[in-house]
Amino acid sequence: MPPSLPELAFDNRFAQLPEALYIRHQPAPVSAPELMAFNAPLGHQLGLDRELLGDDVLKTWLSGNALAKGSEPLAAAYAGHQFGQWSGTLGDGRAVLLGEINASDGQHWDIQLKGSGPTPFSRGGDGRAWLGPVIREYLLSNAMVHYGVPSTLGLAIVTTGDYVLREQGPLPGAVLTRVAKSHIRVGTFEYLAAKRDADSMKALIDHLVDYHYPELQQAENKTLSLLNAVIEKQAALIAKWQSLGFIHGVMNTDNASLVGDTIDYGPCAFMDEFDRNKVFSSIDQQGRYAYNNQPGMGHWNMAMLAQAVLPLLSDDETQAISFAQAAIDNFPKHYMSAYISNMREKFGLIDKVQDDDMTLMEDFLDLMHADSADFTLCFRALGNEQSDSLFDLFNDKEGITSWFARWAERLEESPNLEKMNQVNPAVIPRNHWVEATIQSAVNGDWTLFGEFEEALRSPYSANAKFSQPPAPENRVQATFCGT
Ligand code: AMP
Ligand code: MG
Repeated sequence: MPPSLPELAFDNRFAQLPEALYIRHQPAPVSAPELMAFNAPLGHQLGLDRELLGDDVLKTWLSGNALAKGSEPLAAAYAGHQFGQWSGTLGDGRAVLLGEINASDGQHWDIQLKGSGPTPFSRGGDGRAWLGPVIREYLLSNAMVHYGVPSTLGLAIVTTGDYVLREQGPLPGAVLTRVAKSHIRVGTFEYLAAKRDADSMKALIDHLVDYHYPELQQAENKTLSLLNAVIEKQAALIAKWQSLGFIHGVMNTDNASLVGDTIDYGPCAFMDEFDRNKVFSSIDQQGRYAYNNQPGMGHWNMAMLAQAVLPLLSDDETQAISFAQAAIDNFPKHYMSAYISNMREKFGLIDKVQDDDMTLMEDFLDLMHADSADFTLCFRALGNEQSDSLFDLFNDKEGITSWFARWAERLEESPNLEKMNQVNPAVIPRNHWVEATIQSAVNGDWTLFGEFEEALRSPYSANAKFSQPPAPENRVQATFCGT
């Protein structure tokens, strides 16, 4: 007998939006669900404590095998540009929004199952996910919180007991419970724009303003104010990624969140050796989403959003275009200001601003790039003021020595080292550890997963095991499309 699920505080605001935006749809059952991971602090924050609900309830609920009372599950509709090309309708092809929990932290949170079976948007796909990408998303998205990067979060991993067939062969299936303030994407707007459904778009804008940007409620032009706010958030988000060496890998417009979260952890990764042109995704042949291109791609995605909302910016088309252009043109300014402020913190240059600070910082990145130095170790060594261990990371000893002297001189007697170590993590979800964790879990051993999850919860403390870059034979060259 499956356990009967408790009544949870659902308040399904997205499900009250016009029906153009979703198809009501239930998750498909799985054979033998097991709760393999649960983010206890997040569960507690949401009022979904593991101890209170119990594993039987959680695995039944979060596999999609039973619905909690009050849940109104749906697959959301959206479209998108993938790798710069218009793809038309995409939608939740392997995810179901169970509803929004009115949580004990006072926030509403989307509870979404990813890998929960085919939906009307599956376009021939199986609607499932295998354990590898589920673990990757869980670890990376939950690590983001500790770096101050807005992100969707992973609440749970439930293995399904079913196999999914991928290029590599049959692989163990899993369902990720993804939690987010909202799953609305640029692609959601593009979907309505393509259908010329202005009424639904107006309702969507009101929804976003009321629940996610309430400070804009009195704005004279809500659409324009929302566009500006989203652009600023997106710029700040990408500035955070850059300051951590995070490469999203698939910055399509359907993976650009309207609330400024990092969303959709597919072929993403953190860099070990710094390379401005780094690409991990095996499907990104042209390097469109390389590290250095991320700000430009974010800018492009915002242009797609502006284009989608154009008819609502003004009744006068010329005026609408000029509003849109001005909003888009602000992206680089917002990005640079957020980026510089992040980088100042990383370099300890927070006491005062000097004209050549940017040059000093970029020169360091140039040296790192030229020598393929480890991004995370370099900043950590800098914050520990260990010139020897810093110099060890470079081949160009002369270059780094003279740079270090410039930096030390610039810092004078207020080095802010302690603060640097609070923004420069020692532990990032390094690719080789993510891969090793996936391998162990696939083989039924979740010990490494537990250790890694724990280390990622306090990433500013040095960790003998997880701080280390890969040995040459452990280096992961590519990540795969997150299906
Ligand atoms: P993504 O690359 O994860 O952003 O997904 C792009 C689109 O493909 C979305 O509409 C997904 O729902 C859909 N999709 C990805 N994998 C699958 C799958 N295994 N089955 C069905 N749809 C999928
Ligand atoms: Mg996606």
